[in-house]
Formats: sequence, structure tokens, C-alpha cells
Amino acid sequence: MKELLILSDKGGAGKSSVTASIAALLSGTLNITLADTDVNAPNLHIINKASLIKSAPIYASEKAFIDMTACTGCMGCTDMCSFGALMRGNGTPVLLQIFCEACGACIKECPEKAIEIRQIHNGYLHLFDAGGIKLVSGKLSIGQGSTGKIVDIIKSEARIAAQNDNADYLIIDGPPGLCCPVISSLKGCDAVLAITEPTMPALSALERLLNVVEYSDPAVGVIINKVDINPAGADAVRRSMEERGIPVIGEIPYDIHVSFAITEGVPVEICFPESKAAEALRTITSKILSLFETKQQERDIDHEQDTCMR
Ligand code: SF4
Ligand code: SF4
Repeated sequence: MKELLILSDKGGAGKSSVTASIAALLSGTLNITLADTDVNAPNLHIINKASLIKSAPIYASEKAFIDMTACTGCMGCTDMCSFGALMRGNGTPVLLQIFCEACGACIKECPEKAIEIRQIHNGYLHLFDAGGIKLVSGKLSIGQGSTGKIVDIIKSEARIAAQNDNADYLIIDGPPGLCCPVISSLKGCDAVLAITEPTMPALSALERLLNVVEYSDPAVGVIINKVDINPAGADAVRRSMEERGIPVIGEIPYDIHVSFAITEGVPVEICFPESKAAEALRTITSKILSLFETKQQERDIDHEQDTCMR
């Protein structure tokens, strides 16, 4: 099974609608499983009008808890916290859990054994049915952290779902921009598609994103969305990608049918197959598989050269 991660340099670039259409197109001939690792604002299930199969809470981090019935107020623990999570209150310690890193130093100092480390509930894991395709998604609870760990949990559940369904491809709708969940989403991916728009700010953000992506050495392709809204910007993106040796594998024109499709909760390919956007997405999808093959050929050549050098 191969993993394809779809990223965008910023929110609103069209990442999730492109993911939904590519999955719909590939599922005609291949077994596909979907994952959504945009844990701050997951929306692939909305774009696909997916139905929820089951949910489970995620416990991705730990915090200290004080049993105030056992605490004698000796304040020994308050001097131990290097993270500013424990303060002296009026006769009792005050624990600010948001700062707690669960290092356990305070536990060793407590003569009453009143402190313990417990797992905390950070979010939810969801399994959806998106028109016959399994979709594993997750959502961070308000005020919680550990997004990277939550992404790890979503990906590992998605891999299990994909293996159970004998999937050929796991397609992951990643988070926008450059943040901790992007790094976690990249782990173990075979190919990355980066969605951008033809503007100079988007190009600047795309270049930063690609600098990070290239550390993981996946196959990489770029898609320019709404390519016709700024021809000069589109040329700048093409030139920059040519200099980097990254293929622009597709260009999608601005098409109001994409917005109508999002409103309907159905991929544009299914809703409006005759639209300009759907036509461009079909061309892109036909090139995706060759992205994996080209990378494999490059790796084989590198391997042969390494062997010859020894
Ligand atoms: S577990 Fe560590 S970080 Fe948390 S309150 Fe105790 S000393 Fe501070
Ligand atoms: S060290 Fe234990 S007993 Fe002393 S203030 Fe902290 S929690 Fe309470």
C-alpha cells in the first residue's frame, strides 16, 4: 500500500476538495482509504457528506493531578516544577495543568503521595463511510495540545483500516501551512502533492513548505489551483518549481462549480463531471501514479550508483 499526502501552503487553497475528487476518481479502479489529519479543522467528511460509523476518545498526553484530600500543604512540590505549573496558594499548592509537562519531579517530592500523572482526553477519533470509502478523521478538543501525537494515532488507525480493506492507496488530507501536525503527517508518506495558488505570498509559503517536505524525501508534485486568476503569479510558480526540479503535475482553473460541489457535499468530479475543474482533476489523477513510479526509478538508480561506488 502506498501513502499519498495532500498539503497546501495555506488554508483555503482547495486541498480538501482536490483530495475528495482524486479519491473519487482513483476509487473507480483502485481500493482507496482516506484520512484527514487536519486535527484543528477537519472537513473532509463534510466535503464528502460522509456518515459516521463510530467514534472514540483520544488520550494523547499526560498531566499531573493532586489529591487535595491527601495533601497537607507542605509546599515541597511547588519548588520542584521547572515549567511554572505549580504555585504557592493560600495554604495549598495551585496546579496550572496547561503548563504541566508530566515530568514527574513533583511526585518524588511529595511525602503524602498525593500527586499522580494521569492520561488526559485530548480529542476524538472518528471513522466515516464516505460513499463506500473508509475515512479516518480526528479532532482536537478545544484548549488541548499534542496535535502531533493525535495525527500519529489517526495515521496508525487509518493504516489498519486500509490494510483491512486491502487498500492500494491511503490518501491523507493533511493540515494547511507549516505546523506540528504537518511534520507528523509527513512521516512514512511515499508521495506529497502540494496545492498552491498563483500569488507571490502563496509561492513564498509553498517554498517554505517544500523545504520541509524535502527532508522526508517523498515523491513531490505541485498543483496550481485557480491558475487563471493571476497569469503572472502562475508563471512565477512554474519557474520556481522548474528551478527546484519539482513537477507541476496539474493546473486547475477557477470554476464556480467547485463551490457548488462543496455546498452539495459531493466531489466536483461526481457533481459536475463536465466542469473545467473536473476535467483538470481527471488529468491530474492520471499523472499521480507516475509520480510514485518516477521516484522509485530515481531510488533504484541511486541504489545502483551506491553499489557501484563500493
Ligand atoms: S509533573 Fe513536572 S511539569 Fe507537571 S507539575 Fe509536576 S513538576 Fe511540574
Ligand atoms: S508535596 Fe504533596 S503534600 Fe506537599 S503541598 Fe505538594 S501535593 Fe501537597
